[in-house]
Amino acid sequence: MEKERKSYVAHCLVLPYPAQGHINPMLQFSKRLVQRGVKVTLVTVVSNWKTMNNKNFTSIEVESISDGYDDGGLAAAESLEVYKDTFWRVGPQTLTELVHSLAASGNPANCVIYDAFLPWALDVAKKFGLLGAAFFTQSCSTNNIYRHVYKKLLELPLSQTEYFIPGLPKLAAGDLPSFLNKYGSYPGYFDIVVNQFANIDKADWVLANTFDELEQGVVDWLLKIWPLKTIGPCLPSMFLDKRLQGDKDYGVSMYNPNSEACIKWLDDKPKKSVVYVSFGSMAGLSEEQTEELAWGLRDSGSYFIWVVRDSEKGKLPKEFVDTSEKGLILTWCPQLLVLTHEALGCFLTHCGWNSTLEAVCLGVPLIAMPLWTDQITNAKLIEDEWKIGVKAVADEKDIVRRQTIKQCIREILENGKGNEIKNNGIKWKNLAKNYVDEGGNSDKNIAEFVAALAHRCT
Ligand code: UDP
Repeated sequence: MEKERKSYVAHCLVLPYPAQGHINPMLQFSKRLVQRGVKVTLVTVVSNWKTMNNKNFTSIEVESISDGYDDGGLAAAESLEVYKDTFWRVGPQTLTELVHSLAASGNPANCVIYDAFLPWALDVAKKFGLLGAAFFTQSCSTNNIYRHVYKKLLELPLSQTEYFIPGLPKLAAGDLPSFLNKYGSYPGYFDIVVNQFANIDKADWVLANTFDELEQGVVDWLLKIWPLKTIGPCLPSMFLDKRLQGDKDYGVSMYNPNSEACIKWLDDKPKKSVVYVSFGSMAGLSEEQTEELAWGLRDSGSYFIWVVRDSEKGKLPKEFVDTSEKGLILTWCPQLLVLTHEALGCFLTHCGWNSTLEAVCLGVPLIAMPLWTDQITNAKLIEDEWKIGVKAVADEKDIVRRQTIKQCIREILENGKGNEIKNNGIKWKNLAKNYVDEGGNSDKNIAEFVAALAHRCT
């Protein structure tokens, strides 16, 4: 037992919230830890474990705990509120059992790196005298807004038209995350995002999937109050710095990507001609919005790949499915391979934080079509701060019309404003790469984190 214990710097349990956009960055961060001699056990919930397409990562073990819904996870629960109550009750017990069983098998954990959505994991870590690191899978900007709500520095319901939050540009009320500007409409998610801060003062580190230049003001501000380390952007090394040996898989997919058909379809399209459309793993469009988007894509005359998950398929206009010649509709795709393909022209995105960071790192121009949660704030930053895309503006019924979609596509794919956006994209891409590369701040911050782990675990 003693011999094995000494073969690694420390043993970290890495616990993401069970959603694709949370597992992806925490898995990529885990690979960077392994490279530096840390043993990592990725902890998923049982239902995810059953559907994961990849359970064999080089040097990363995978264990599962119960969230109370071993068959189906969130989808099997009556509502998010019910799921959350159950998971928050069952999770601490099943995580405790895992900590016990690892210790009993001579493989004790030293540190729990937990998704900040799951603050109870820090309480479990502290009960056992383990180190605890919160991991933010959303931007520092969004988290600073939520922190202000938690601290009651930002009053709800919103009563002002403009907000000045430290480190952030001036925001209109409509630029704040939907849980605030549509206060009361998502009580379960509101509780999750605001309560991330309930016990954060007990965390030994706060890790954020971002890079300093992208959110400089807010990172500087948060550094004054938290032991913050910016360790992003957490993309597979093969798409960014290419330094991780053997980084061949690009993660876990909870859906089945039809990779071969997708890349083959892209291969014979002209350079920079294809619009890639995806709203991530959770968001759903209304039927009216789906129809407007469908005709907007067709009217643009461009090639497109549109990810429409099975649960959304029924909303597609029937004639559109039958007649569209220029488009490929898939239930899931290998997004990073699509974003790096030379036929790609732009990405029409819901602005989830991972999709946003992936586009930033790969220099892909964006059409921002946010639907809810932090996507609203990310879209504002994409258009006005980073200047890497245009926002598709909705009408008074909250629908982005087909003419707007067509116009945004033209604007990006054609010269003029599109060129300015592409040039900005190259600037951010280089900054992101330098940040992650050897000697960059992400690299240094991860090295410091591992050194501190080593120091505190001996
Ligand atoms: N993704 C993918 N294939 C798809 C759509 C999305 O691999 O067809 C990946 C994408 O690369 C990203 C994640 O799923 O890493 C979605 O995370 P994001 O934060 O953008 O959105 P969420 O799903 O959390 O709303």
